[in-house]
Amino acid sequence: MSKNYVIGFPRIGEQRELKRVLEKYWAKEVAFSEVECVALELKERHWEYQSDAGIDCISCNDFSLYDNMLDTSVMLGAIPARFKGLKNEELYFGMARGDSERVAMEMTKWFNTNYHYIVPELSLEDSYLLDASKIVKEYKEAKAFGIKPKINIIGPLTYLGLSKRVDGGDSYALYGKIMPLYVELLETISRLDETLLVQIDEPIFVKDLDTKLLSLIKPTYDTLANVAQNIEIVVSSYFEHAKEATAILVHTPIFAIGLDFLYGEENLDSLEILAQSGKTVVAGVVDGRNIWKNNFDTTLALLEKIALKIPVERLYVSSSCSLLHTPFSLKYEEKMDAQLKNWLSYAVEKLDEISLISQLFFEGEKSLNSFELELLHANRDANISRKTAARIHNKSVQARVSALDTFERKGSFDARIKIQRELLAYEDLATTSIGSFPQTAQIRKARADYKTGAMTKEAYEQEMRNYIDACVAFQEECGLEVLVHGEPERNDMVEYFGEQLSGYGFSQNGWVQSYGSRCVKPPFIYGDISRPKSMTVEWISYAQSKTEKIMKGMLTGPVTILNWSFVRDDMPRSEVSKQIAVALSDEVDDLQNAGIKMIQVDEAAFKEGYPLRKTKIARYENWAVRDFKISVSSAKKETQIHTHMCYSEFNDIIKTIEAMGADVISIETARSGNELLKIFKKVGYKQEVGPGVYDIHSPRVPSVQEMVHQIELLLEVLPKEQLWINPDCGLKTRKWEEVKPSLKNMVEAVKIVREKLK
Ligand code: GLN
Ligand code: ZN
Repeated sequence: MSKNYVIGFPRIGEQRELKRVLEKYWAKEVAFSEVECVALELKERHWEYQSDAGIDCISCNDFSLYDNMLDTSVMLGAIPARFKGLKNEELYFGMARGDSERVAMEMTKWFNTNYHYIVPELSLEDSYLLDASKIVKEYKEAKAFGIKPKINIIGPLTYLGLSKRVDGGDSYALYGKIMPLYVELLETISRLDETLLVQIDEPIFVKDLDTKLLSLIKPTYDTLANVAQNIEIVVSSYFEHAKEATAILVHTPIFAIGLDFLYGEENLDSLEILAQSGKTVVAGVVDGRNIWKNNFDTTLALLEKIALKIPVERLYVSSSCSLLHTPFSLKYEEKMDAQLKNWLSYAVEKLDEISLISQLFFEGEKSLNSFELELLHANRDANISRKTAARIHNKSVQARVSALDTFERKGSFDARIKIQRELLAYEDLATTSIGSFPQTAQIRKARADYKTGAMTKEAYEQEMRNYIDACVAFQEECGLEVLVHGEPERNDMVEYFGEQLSGYGFSQNGWVQSYGSRCVKPPFIYGDISRPKSMTVEWISYAQSKTEKIMKGMLTGPVTILNWSFVRDDMPRSEVSKQIAVALSDEVDDLQNAGIKMIQVDEAAFKEGYPLRKTKIARYENWAVRDFKISVSSAKKETQIHTHMCYSEFNDIIKTIEAMGADVISIETARSGNELLKIFKKVGYKQEVGPGVYDIHSPRVPSVQEMVHQIELLLEVLPKEQLWINPDCGLKTRKWEEVKPSLKNMVEAVKIVREKLK
């Protein structure tokens, strides 16, 4: 009897082997055959890990050289016109990355994760054609390796729901073209073996579904489940509950439904109808999105609850989602503090957890052998240690955070801005930048050498000061009005703060795929957050001492710090965020006491933390706004608070943005003229706004004329008194040769516009 199940496994490799070989191939250092060779090695190793751990349902086709949505587009022949004529790997990587003649396909976040998929481009005019070769190949590889895998595919409704129509209109209009290919796919699959298990991922089911999508669920799964007698279909969703879709799926002839009982606790409400329907339930109970050791007692209790309704013969113990969203294996964490390491569990370790929990649940503790018993006891001990460790708890932080009930800044915005404009005396259309300047090879090396001890503190600090000097000199020379120090000391806008806050841990090899060959290594929050000493004051004060102009201090906001970290699971996220906010409010106070007059608190990840379900949004907005406000609550009326957000679509959240109460917000609008700014006018937004006037994501240097035009477009929407002029985002990924002329042109453009306005 099969008992346990893993939705999917990371593919980048425990030493990021896939990343390495892809980048070599792209640099033309190795042939494509080398990529294929590494890929097969990885697939086999990952199957081996899973089968060694005793996982019953192991996937194939969860592997990808770049992205599974892209694989699905290739499988369906959904090739945008500009790539026609390319073949095989040139086509595949061309779609993913573009080339000198063709822009890459768009990439966007996979639900509320930090994984990015390639957005399919569909059109009613195009014709589509099935190519199931990747799936067939992976199935055969797995069989040859000695396992009988389930086959993972992205479902038609999710595929269409995440696509965009290049000819405008609703992607579901292509249902009639795409659906027959899925039927053909299942026919092809059915010939691969006597019996087959196919996992069809439909994570779109966890969103609020419109009537159109709801109406497609039954016909889709009636059809797919009837294609072949020898295929059993599991429809799986994750990251939230899927109650509406479940209520429909139970009336289709599919075999099982996979549900996330951790991030979608409400799925428990579906147990009754699942029980009546006789469906098997793949119960997602081991967290696929976090790094903490599972608490077996809690998980067993959850399974018992599920088993009150669903007979155990119809239950699988599963990961809550693909383990793609966790790092690979703890075995390379050689430097991590032993106690912290003992609290963690990455993908490979989660396999053992899933296996052990299923054995405990189905067969009881008596069935464990001595090795398994040892694992069980170690797990219990680790959980106890994590609960009771002194380093987790900071009484004074807890007391301060819970006592905090007022977090309003002094003075209304109207009163503040009047004082600020008098005191700070900046002109209308004031020019500034978002914070970072190019991260040169030299400063990266200095940071790395300082970390390893190859460079002394003195030499390192001198290096940073030299860079700041150069940034200040350049900004003065080019005539910018509000300066920044350039952020040379920051490797990353979250890690830099994490490293200086107590309660944060860091990994050596905790890489998680973000897109293609790119991985991120989020720090993790394990305990109460406090700030032993100021984090930015020295650098910012140094920069201010080098200029008569205003030097803007630079911080990362609480919500962004939270959203880009792995967060402790023994406390609500909102509480953790509040602790970070309190620490930041002390930093704001230190900065203003050191004479810094403007402070920018970046909230680049504010929007990506939004819940998937509308009913949960108000709660999130509530605490997210609260915590931004707490972090700047120490600012005096005279201190001007800026914030920056890396996107442009504010229509749904404009009231929330306004409620944050930043005196100035800079946003990303350069690619959309003034369209996206209109919402600010529409709602009568009062605070000042810096809509990016050029796109920093491209190496192109924008001309003066172009930016004059862009500024004039902005002036059609908002008055000059309300506008700031700045690039779209930080400049760290650009080169100085691009940044210097771009900013000079920007300042020049403002001069021309000011002249015209006179
Ligand atoms: N201040 C940061 C920078 O300029 C902001 C980065 C971001 O918004 N992603 O780099
Ligand atoms: Zn940005």
